Amino acid sequence: MIEKSLKELSQALAAKKISSVELTQLYLDRISRFNPQLNAFITVNGDKSLAAARAADQRIARGEAGPLTGIPVAQKDIFCAEGWLTTCGSKMLSNFVSPYDATVIERMERGAGLVSLGKTNMDEFAMGSSNETSFYGPVRNPWDPERVPGGSSGGSAAAVAARLAPVASGTDTGGSIRQPASLCNLTGLKPTYGVVSRYGMIAFASSLDQAGPMARSAEDCALLLNTMAGFDERDSTSLDRPSEDYTRDLERPLEGLRIGLPKEFFGDGCDPEVMAAVRAAIAEYEKLGARTVEVSLPNSHLSVAAYYVIAPAEASSNLSRFDGVRYGYRAPEYTDLADMYSKTRAQGFGAEVKRRILIGAYVLSHGYYDAYYLQAQRIRRLIADDFAAAFKECDVILGPTSPGTAFKLGEKAADPVQMYLSDIYTIAVNLAGLPGMSLPCGFAGSLPVGLQLIGNYFAEARLLNVAHRYQQATDWHRRAPAGLE
Ligand code: GLN
Repeated sequence: MIEKSLKELSQALAAKKISSVELTQLYLDRISRFNPQLNAFITVNGDKSLAAARAADQRIARGEAGPLTGIPVAQKDIFCAEGWLTTCGSKMLSNFVSPYDATVIERMERGAGLVSLGKTNMDEFAMGSSNETSFYGPVRNPWDPERVPGGSSGGSAAAVAARLAPVASGTDTGGSIRQPASLCNLTGLKPTYGVVSRYGMIAFASSLDQAGPMARSAEDCALLLNTMAGFDERDSTSLDRPSEDYTRDLERPLEGLRIGLPKEFFGDGCDPEVMAAVRAAIAEYEKLGARTVEVSLPNSHLSVAAYYVIAPAEASSNLSRFDGVRYGYRAPEYTDLADMYSKTRAQGFGAEVKRRILIGAYVLSHGYYDAYYLQAQRIRRLIADDFAAAFKECDVILGPTSPGTAFKLGEKAADPVQMYLSDIYTIAVNLAGLPGMSLPCGFAGSLPVGLQLIGNYFAEARLLNVAHRYQQATDWHRRAPAGLE
C-alpha cells in the first residue's frame, strides 16, 4: 500500500479494497513507529485525522469522491489549519492553535477530501536549508540519519521519503521544496508565483513565497497541484486565471523538446558526483528525443546576494507582527510594554530568525536603502531578464537542484554563508517568479541526487510532462530508503 501512487490509492479506495480510515490508520501507525527517530512531524492528531477519514469514506460511499478523496497528506507547519497547533517551527508560535484554515488546507481538506495526517517539522519561519533552525529539533534524513533532509520543508520531505505520508505540502521561498526533495529522493514543484494562494500561509518573504506539492512522482505532484492551485481573492497576489488540469500533458512525447543548459550551472562549485548524475539525465533526455542548447544566465551568480537582501527585508517587516500582544508566545516577566516586546522577541525567536530580522532592518534603513535594497531589486530584474532571454532559445532549463547531496547534521550550522550557498541553483527561480521542479536522477554513493527543471511562467504542465516522461524511462524515483519497513 505504501508504495502505491495516488492514482492507485484512489482506485483502491473507489473499489473498496481499502477504506480511508484503514489507509489513514496505516500511516498513523507508521508515524508512531518511525517519527520518534526522524522527527518529521511536530504535531499528529490521530482523532482529527480519523474523523476526516470517516467523512471521506462517507463521501466515497455517496459517490461524491474526487480523485484524491480519502488520501492522507502531511501538511507543512507553515499552513494555518483550524484547530491544529500551527508553530511554523518557532517557539514564538509554540502555543498557537489556528482559528482558521489556509486556502491550501481548505482546498485539500474541504475541497478535495484529502485527510491531513499532521503538521510537519520545518526550519523556523522557513529560514534555512537543513531543518536545523527548528525550535522542535532537527529532522533526520531517512536515507542516512546522520544527515539533514534539507530545508525548510525538511519534515515534509522526510515524511514522504520514509513513507509516513504518500504526499505532502511544502513551501519554497528560495528552494525549500526543491532542495529537500533533492536531498530525500522526491519530486517537488514550486509553481509560478501567484498560482497557489498564500492566504493563511505564514509569511516569510511575501514576494517570493509559494506553496507546492512534494511527492514521489511528477504524476502525484500534478494531482496534488490540481487541488492546491487556483485564484483566491483573499491573497492580493493570487492570479485570476482559468483553472488548469496539471495532468493534461503528462504523456506528451518529448521529441523536439529544447532543453537549455545554462553554462553558469555547469561550472565549478558543484559536487562532481552530482554533476555526473545530472549529465546522465541529459543523455537520457536525448534518448527520449530532446535536444540540448547552451544558454546563459549571466547574472545568476548575484542571485544569492540579492536574495539575502530582499528576503530578510520582507521578513523583518512580516515578522514584526510577532510582538506578544495578540497571539503566540509572550515573555512571562517584563516591566513595561517596550520591555515586553523586547523580551518576547528575544526569547521567542531563534538565532537565524534574529539574524534575518537584523539584516532586513539594516538594508531597509535610511541611508542604506538605495545601496542595498534598491540595488538588490535591480539585480532581481536582471535575473528575470536573463531567464526571458534564455526561454527564447529553449522550452525548459535543466541543471542540478543542489550543489551537493545531504550533508551531515551540524556540518554547515556554524557558517551561515555555507548554508546559504546550498540554494545557489534554486534562488534565481524565486527571484524571477518562475516554476521549478526537482526530481530524482541518481545517487552519489548511497545519497540521492536531484535534477532541477525550470519552466517559463505558467509552464507547470510542461514541466510535469518533462519530469513524468523521464520517470517512465527511469526508476530512481521508486527507490526507497532501507530500514523503514
Ligand atoms: N534556504 C533558503 C533560506 O534560508 C530558502 C528557504 C525557503 O525557501 N523557505 O532562506
